[in-house]
Amino acid sequence: MLNNSRSQVLFNQAKQYIPGGVNSPVRAFKAVGGDPLFIKRASGAYLYDEDDNGFIDFINSWGPMILGHGNELIEAAVTEAVKSSLSFGAPTKKEVDIAELITHMVPSIDKIRMVNSGTEATMSAIRVARGYTGRDKIIKFEGCYHGHGDSFLIAAGSGAITMGSPDSPGVTKGTAKDTLLAPFNDLDKVKDLVTANPDQIASIILEPVAGNMGCVLPEPGFLQGLRDVCDQQGIVLIFDEVMTGFRLAKGGAQELYGVMPDITTLGKIIGGGMPVGAYGGKEEIMNYVSPEGPVYQAGTLSGNPIAMAAGYTMLSYLNEHDEVYQQIERSTQKIVEGIKKNLELLGLNHTINQVGSMFSLFFSSERIVDFEHAKNCDTEKFGRYFKAMLDRGVYLAPSQFETLFVSSAIGEDEINKTVDSNYEVLKLLM
Ligand SMILES: *Cc1c(COP(=O)(O)O)cnc(C)c1O
Repeated sequence: MLNNSRSQVLFNQAKQYIPGGVNSPVRAFKAVGGDPLFIKRASGAYLYDEDDNGFIDFINSWGPMILGHGNELIEAAVTEAVKSSLSFGAPTKKEVDIAELITHMVPSIDKIRMVNSGTEATMSAIRVARGYTGRDKIIKFEGCYHGHGDSFLIAAGSGAITMGSPDSPGVTKGTAKDTLLAPFNDLDKVKDLVTANPDQIASIILEPVAGNMGCVLPEPGFLQGLRDVCDQQGIVLIFDEVMTGFRLAKGGAQELYGVMPDITTLGKIIGGGMPVGAYGGKEEIMNYVSPEGPVYQAGTLSGNPIAMAAGYTMLSYLNEHDEVYQQIERSTQKIVEGIKKNLELLGLNHTINQVGSMFSLFFSSERIVDFEHAKNCDTEKFGRYFKAMLDRGVYLAPSQFETLFVSSAIGEDEINKTVDSNYEVLKLLM
């Protein structure tokens, strides 16, 4: 068993001063039982806790650390930037550089605005979509998570499901009534909603690959079908690529699936580990953003020079190193194939969804294509699986409803150890 005594002491202290002892709910391990580990440092593929236990990291700060921890180039860029002051609140060259680079990497983006989190990016994106169309309603998909903005905390994924409060108190009925819901992958339901609300839908927003109900892929034709509906009805299609952006390809899921949104929201990898988000898209729409246009959106620390230094270095590296995407996809495939073989050997028929370097093992034998199916998984069994993997030094996301991320720091040793641990643990749980 893991010695986590220092983490336990810290967690008890933390609970006195911080709600639930954490600054973001899923970190509390509530969905899997047990207490969270307090992390002291990380290097390459490994996290180390306050008791100096090491773990292979499959969370990667929930996505950003695609190159593993302690990347020398990013650290050097940050260290250099610090020397010129931490913040100015005035325009900088770095903001021009990163904006230009992103419009190059993500061709559907003509203009982009930097913010400080994925939540801010999606909140701002729907405001622009509403300002641009003069309409109020949005369509979102059950189990998709778009941060904690009021309009999105309705059948939201990630921590919101995990906490068992998909509809958070504090979100007004007035706000909630403008968010219409459809099951992921259900194009007919979307068409019904559009027909029932003529000229009222400002935007359809989705994760093109859902990552916040576990990893759920779009069915063939789903994304293109949404694109067509939006074109016919003058609706702004928003791809929330906070998770998939710069992860599934340089140009995100939209590049992989060949469907272009009107607005893209970005976060996670874009900051290289620093708190950054962004939203961007067609020039005609982005020109509605203040001070060019009437839709107000601002940020004291937006485009922060330290964050931009980290983000620019990360994105430049990815832009110049296509082989990273091939490597992390290969590593992920090896892990997934290993787990599939384990399941076969043990006569289990759990489901694995994977695309690129994202994957989820679902404790269910059904095909998982939407939130309804994801919800039916054996989450209690997942909790025991999580803990037994942690005991063996493999740090998975502490919820059935999260995606695992493979970084380029994960090599053969980590792959083998993960697959072997998976076999031992699945056998134990049978
Ligand atoms: C993480 C995430 C967000 C929220 O980003 P924060 O930086 O946590 O506010 C929004 N959308 C998606 C798809 C995400 O994965």
